[in-house]
Amino acid sequence: MPPLSDAHTHSSFSFDGKDTMSALADGAARAGLSVLTVTDHYDVYSRFTPADYLAAYRAAAADGAVELLLGVELGEGHLDAAGSDALLDALPLDFVLGSCHYVEGQPDFYDIRCAELDECRRRVEGYLDELLRMIAWGRFHVLGHLTYPLRYMAGREGFPVDFSFCEDRVKAVFRALVESGKGIEVNVSGLRRGSFAMPDLPLLELFRACGGEIVTVGSDAHNAGDVGAHIPDGYALLRAAGFASVALFRQGRPDFVRI
Ligand SMILES: [Zn+2]
Ligand SMILES: [Zn+2]
Repeated sequence: MPPLSDAHTHSSFSFDGKDTMSALADGAARAGLSVLTVTDHYDVYSRFTPADYLAAYRAAAADGAVELLLGVELGEGHLDAAGSDALLDALPLDFVLGSCHYVEGQPDFYDIRCAELDECRRRVEGYLDELLRMIAWGRFHVLGHLTYPLRYMAGREGFPVDFSFCEDRVKAVFRALVESGKGIEVNVSGLRRGSFAMPDLPLLELFRACGGEIVTVGSDAHNAGDVGAHIPDGYALLRAAGFASVALFRQGRPDFVRI
């Protein structure tokens, strides 16, 4: 069994997080992890004070239950570049997960119910175009939960939609990531609900075919009990796609851990 790390978790600094960073670290130790990265939400709707965040991190890291790394899930960082810059310049972050939960001017995909398959496809194209703008902005290390819209369109509403209808756009996203030295995340939160990983195996294979090498795995836990859940399944997906290692970011640089 390779050493396990979870690169996507939320503490009570997130609007939807339940537990303190110390409680998450205890949960990580119980789950058998050696490394935990906290990645609280930071975007135009959810903000914390960098000083408070850093103080909580340092206190939790000093407990020493596991190696605790300081990250953030930056939502749509390019849509508030000044706010993002202020945060990123104020914190000694190990890891910045760049996520996109909505297209500019539209609601979060969580709040969208498509009327038909064509609408799903149009919105997926819009999402991929938004990702390209986010990547062009660029102040993050790894793209979070690619295929986030499918959690709702396919997972919740049952539309038979995936990204295969727009493979050229997906390849453009992957190429832009690779050219700028960025990676993607395998977000295994869906596996806790009997759903799919974001992204799933075919897109992981495509990322690798496009030259992708950097992939992290995260539970997207919002409480201590979910920390580390299904991380080994994420590693298995990576191996199935042909990856020999998982990336682990410290001080903004990836280490590669064999899986
Ligand atoms: Zn997210
Ligand atoms: Zn998250």
